Amino acid sequence: MAPATARRSAPFDARAVAGALEAWFPRAARPLPWRTDLATPSRPRDPWHCLVAEAMLQQTQVARVLGPFARFIAEFPTPAHLARAEERRVLALWAGLGYYRRARNLHAAARAIVQHHAGRLPDDPAALGALPGVGRYTAGAIASIAFNRPEPILDGNVRRVLLRLRGVAMNPANPATDRWAWARAADIARAADRPGVVNEALMELGATTCTPGPRPACDACPLAHLCAARAAGTQARIPRPKPAPTRSALWLACIIITDRRGRVLIRQRPPSGLWAGLWQPPTLELDAPPRDPHTAAAEFARPWCAGPLRHAGTFSALLTHRRLTVAVFAASAAACTRRAAAQHWAAPAELLAPAPEASHAMSNLHKRAVRLALTLPDRL
Ligand code: SF4
Repeated sequence: MAPATARRSAPFDARAVAGALEAWFPRAARPLPWRTDLATPSRPRDPWHCLVAEAMLQQTQVARVLGPFARFIAEFPTPAHLARAEERRVLALWAGLGYYRRARNLHAAARAIVQHHAGRLPDDPAALGALPGVGRYTAGAIASIAFNRPEPILDGNVRRVLLRLRGVAMNPANPATDRWAWARAADIARAADRPGVVNEALMELGATTCTPGPRPACDACPLAHLCAARAAGTQARIPRPKPAPTRSALWLACIIITDRRGRVLIRQRPPSGLWAGLWQPPTLELDAPPRDPHTAAAEFARPWCAGPLRHAGTFSALLTHRRLTVAVFAASAAACTRRAAAQHWAAPAELLAPAPEASHAMSNLHKRAVRLALTLPDRL
């Protein structure tokens, strides 16, 4: 059912919205590497490039995706190339983007595309949605942008545009808001001559013009003449702010153990959970700091380090749902146990190198801990 504010305003003219966006996008779109055909917007995009770009852009800003996207496509120009790759190489090329589960899903999706679709992305949204890591949004984006199918998309940017366009002050965290917004996005996709162009235009408008915060650039907006929030002067109040995420505390002790060759002992994390499958120095993780951090760190490190630990420093970090305190300890080569010799070791320069040269995929937090212990500059 439509919300009260929407029922009171004028009927939703999906055709007018789609037409205005189709005219605006070719002249306003940023020239991004996965948009190689802006001069001919009727030409469909490469579906593989769409999938890689959408996977990288989830929870990540465009500026951070530009370099990794170019490197990834250069090494994996087709799903078959990625399907054949070793996971270690895939994760190395993903470095800097975080959320490594997306890289694993993309790797699995490439294998599924080779196995079930003869190496080519399907155009059917249901088949796309069956690929690992591909949800309703990504399936709609690929089906519309690469295959021009009238499928809707909805992300935070599109939701904000739709809510303002209709002057609807619904809570964006409420599932009813998403149901309403998906229905409006579907109206627009069905009304479009080029659904892919219109969907990309909606995303672009939310990213560059109808931005979060109280002052969207309404004077530059192609939908200004159709926008209920602009007419009512309510842009600043729509959408309603989401409550801040609650973050649970996590205390870490990173133990940086070096051998006589200056290499650092590293271990691989489990395949699921926080930083799944990434490499790190031995790291103790507790919900709260222990009474005596130094002793707790030394006991934890005992299998690999028989000597004293030096406290190199402590820093804080925020993840989406975690508030981290990271205590960093260093141990000298003389303290290494016999068991440590059988572990995995890596030279700091290889470990800390930017992607894709880094020998092992490691979170930025653990790289920072290694730099701190080795008193290296913040960027090696
Ligand atoms: S007119 Fe303003 S509030 Fe309305 S869609 Fe455009 S930028 Fe957003």
